[in-house]
Amino acid sequence: MDRQKTVLVIDDSAMNRSILCEILCQEYTIVEAENGVQALKMLKNAKSKVDAIILDILIPEMGGYEFMECMKKDNRFAQIPVIILTEKADRASERKALENGAWDFVSKPYDAEIVKLRLKNVIARSQVSLLKELNHVMNYDPLTGVYSKNKFFSASKTLLTSNPDKKFAFLRLDIDRFKLINSFFGNVGGDKLIKYMAKHIRDFAKTTECCTFGRIDADVFGIFTPYQGKEHTIEQIEQAVSRMKALTPNYNIMLVYGVYIVTDRELPISQMCDRAALAAKTVKGHYMKNYAFYDDKMRLSLENEQNIINEMSDALENHEFVPYYQPKYDVKTNKPVGAEALARWIHPTKGFISPGVFIPIFEKNGFISKLDLYIWECVCKQLKEWKDRGVPLFPVSVNVSRVNLYNPNLSKIIIELTKKYDVDPKYFNIEITESVYTDKNILIDEMTNQLRSNGFTILMDDFGSGYSSLNVLKDIQVDVLKMDMMFMFKAKYEGRAETIISSVIRMAKWLNIPVIAEGVDKAEQVDFLRSVGCDFIQGFYFAKPMPAKDYEKLISEQEEFAVSETRSSANGLLWGNNSGLAVSIDDIDQPAMILECFPNDNIEAVSSNKAFIRAYGFDSSMYGKFNVVNCIDEGYKELYTSTIRKVIENKGRADCVFSMHDINGKKLWFSTHFRYISETDISTVIVAYITDVTDMVFMDQRINDYKDYVKNETERRHNVLVVSGDEEARKELDRILSQNNDVFTADSVENGKKQLSEHEIDLVYFDIELISENEAFPLDVDGKKLPVIAIIPSHDEFSRRAVLKQRVSDFVMKPFIDEIVRSRTANLLKIGITGVANEKFFSRLK
Ligand code: C2E
Ligand code: CA
Ligand code: CA
Repeated sequence: MDRQKTVLVIDDSAMNRSILCEILCQEYTIVEAENGVQALKMLKNAKSKVDAIILDILIPEMGGYEFMECMKKDNRFAQIPVIILTEKADRASERKALENGAWDFVSKPYDAEIVKLRLKNVIARSQVSLLKELNHVMNYDPLTGVYSKNKFFSASKTLLTSNPDKKFAFLRLDIDRFKLINSFFGNVGGDKLIKYMAKHIRDFAKTTECCTFGRIDADVFGIFTPYQGKEHTIEQIEQAVSRMKALTPNYNIMLVYGVYIVTDRELPISQMCDRAALAAKTVKGHYMKNYAFYDDKMRLSLENEQNIINEMSDALENHEFVPYYQPKYDVKTNKPVGAEALARWIHPTKGFISPGVFIPIFEKNGFISKLDLYIWECVCKQLKEWKDRGVPLFPVSVNVSRVNLYNPNLSKIIIELTKKYDVDPKYFNIEITESVYTDKNILIDEMTNQLRSNGFTILMDDFGSGYSSLNVLKDIQVDVLKMDMMFMFKAKYEGRAETIISSVIRMAKWLNIPVIAEGVDKAEQVDFLRSVGCDFIQGFYFAKPMPAKDYEKLISEQEEFAVSETRSSANGLLWGNNSGLAVSIDDIDQPAMILECFPNDNIEAVSSNKAFIRAYGFDSSMYGKFNVVNCIDEGYKELYTSTIRKVIENKGRADCVFSMHDINGKKLWFSTHFRYISETDISTVIVAYITDVTDMVFMDQRINDYKDYVKNETERRHNVLVVSGDEEARKELDRILSQNNDVFTADSVENGKKQLSEHEIDLVYFDIELISENEAFPLDVDGKKLPVIAIIPSHDEFSRRAVLKQRVSDFVMKPFIDEIVRSRTANLLKIGITGVANEKFFSRLK
């Protein structure tokens, strides 16, 4: 029930007050004041809220209007409705009362019914306006004035139900790393940005009917809008993003849109918003992509992830994780020589779960360190059991996750574990993924050294997948290289992977590091790997990962394998860590020379060894007094001399890599290891062990080119022009390329030229059937050479040769194979090379 309303009666005449009291006291609680001052005091001290005031204009101390002025200034009272008592019913005083902010008036003599009616009305009115205000506060975001979350959601729902035939989409947008921006520009700057966003979505919605929008939280906004196809939505987003960029040139912000296309109209709007958020999450931190569309896989994967997290600890306790063993084969004998232990989750109801599913989750939440330990223990137990039963022993390698690598006790744990099960370390190999080496973490160096000195073998896993290059190999201690699977996947279509594989193997051999190729599943791959001297292969071609029992059967038929105790001996020599080496450089197989270093970086070659003369055809000392530094390329002179200064200062050793040009102008790269020998009065004697790393440097460049080529998915969109008289070809190329590019087509040379002049084309597909004597296609636009890919009929040797004579970058044959078209396109766009430069690129890979 409503509480009884309170009315304040202000009148200096006691009689008037009592008359009003008489009229109203049954329905209202009445408080009385004789004048304005007293009334204000009462308002301030009132225990319950005053709902209305009846005010006589002619009161002492403070006139009625003056009292109203004071009231309005105080927020707490400004909204209380006031009824003025006028002396007589005349127009002028009534108007004056209203002009001064009164809500209504009554004139003497008082008519009880009129007083009651007026009072009831003003109170009702004041409540409505209060409600309205409350509504406004609840429905509108105070900072931006757009709908608040609830209102936006309900407005969306209304749109959805009142337009049953319309398709809708929920767009959720926010700013990537808004918190950073907020802390950078302060809250005021952050607020300003949020207001820009509101403007941004108002502009977005302006052009669309049946659209509503609101602010959901902080920098998160939502737009509920009719859906007219993906293309249209993407276009809308892209336009909006560029408008926002123009609006906020100083912020360098990245808007991220998540889109849920409303397929389930029964879904609460809040869940549509969650789905859009899920989609947005997939593009956070991507610099090239502003939007993502929700699909059901996203939700399922999130649910899956949660299930896995809920179950993992119990699963470990219940021994649901088991190691499977994937054999590694010796390429020369085709026989297994060891295995890698790979975790499997045998779930009691879901069955077999692959590590591709759970390992990434465990890596995120750290549970991987427990699982690793568990798997290592299983492997140790297994090795012991095999040994006890007389099963022939072969080494088993285990994986060490990145999380564990930062555990300073790791080597201790592994050493103790193998001791506990009486496992000889030579049977327990350790795989460490390549990418951790680029962290330059001293701990890892220390740990691998400790493990190696205790007899464990370290394998560098996934070599080629990360950012490291062959260069890192000389700085770190690894015993075996596992070449990443990536090189196998792509080998199908292009010759490039093969070139790189063979070079990696050559380099590794030269460093005396054996190589295992992973992910080999085809006979051609095995043949190829064998032909380039790969040592070991692990892959489905020979065997899939299998339970211990099956693996046991496999190895029981083998003779025991002489474990790789021949660790890279030349490695130590090459990189100079065998301390017993005497000055007699003639005994060693590596080019070396003795340098005499004088003040002012004057460095002279005193003599060179036989290997040096064999390799370079001259004795470095035969030129007499000559500063070696003069031969070195400008950019490396300082590095070279400062390295030597360091060696002299520390009476120690140091390395440097530098380039120089030979007499034919060919650029060569050398890695040199300097070692302090002795000092004379005026000079210092140093020995320099020289390694020609030219191949290696070029190989690194190739690997990087290749990696770029593989990683082209996040490329920006390019404009591709397809010129062909064959409608089918145009359609096909449009279909294949339009996912990552904007495709323009032309059916004749003439129309192609027109397209070229109208759009900024990045790459041209040109059908050689359009080539004619008198009409050449313009391949240079504004002096810039465009990369051109020729379209040729299938297996037409003649046109293939003909086309290579033209200035084209590459060609594709009909009928098109999606992957080939995409990779050719991406490759040319990525490397940004045109025909001429491209020929060089290809020849480098040959
Ligand atoms: P990885 O260490 O690179 O292991 C090789 C993966 O390649 C294995 O996948 C193996 O089954 C797969 N593979 C082998 N030959 C072929 C082939 O010919 N073709 C193809 N397509 N794949 C082949 P798996 O067992 O699914 O393991 C995936 C990754 O999960 C592993 O990659 C490793 O990084 C991680 N992992 C597995 N078990 C453990 C573990 O106990 N601890 C840690 N830290 N990571 C593990
Ligand atoms: Ca591995
Ligand atoms: Ca691997």
